[in-house]
Amino acid sequence: MTFGDRQMHDVDINCAKCNTHISQLPFQPSGDRPVYCADCNRSYRESRSNDKPQAQMHEVDVDCAGCGTHISQLPFQPTGDKPVYCRDCMQARRNNA
Ligand SMILES: [Zn+2]
Ligand SMILES: [Zn+2]
Repeated sequence: MTFGDRQMHDVDINCAKCNTHISQLPFQPSGDRPVYCADCNRSYRESRSNDKPQAQMHEVDVDCAGCGTHISQLPFQPTGDKPVYCRDCMQARRNNA
């Protein structure tokens, strides 16, 4: 049996979540990772993408500690005890680290 061009591997395992028997997988299970059936895989992926917090932006009124650019929005609430950098400076600092 083929699914498109994907080669299916015959396996004999149970889904790590719902215990459904799985007889075929599009990959060879390595054994060191739980294997999920197609349904659980899908819901797992969906729940993960739902969990991913939409970077919530905080309205701020600060200047970048590096280049002085005014910053009006940040993905976090500045605590005030740490310098705040604009996106460019943040990037540059990360690259230098
Ligand atoms: Zn399952
Ligand atoms: Zn800056």
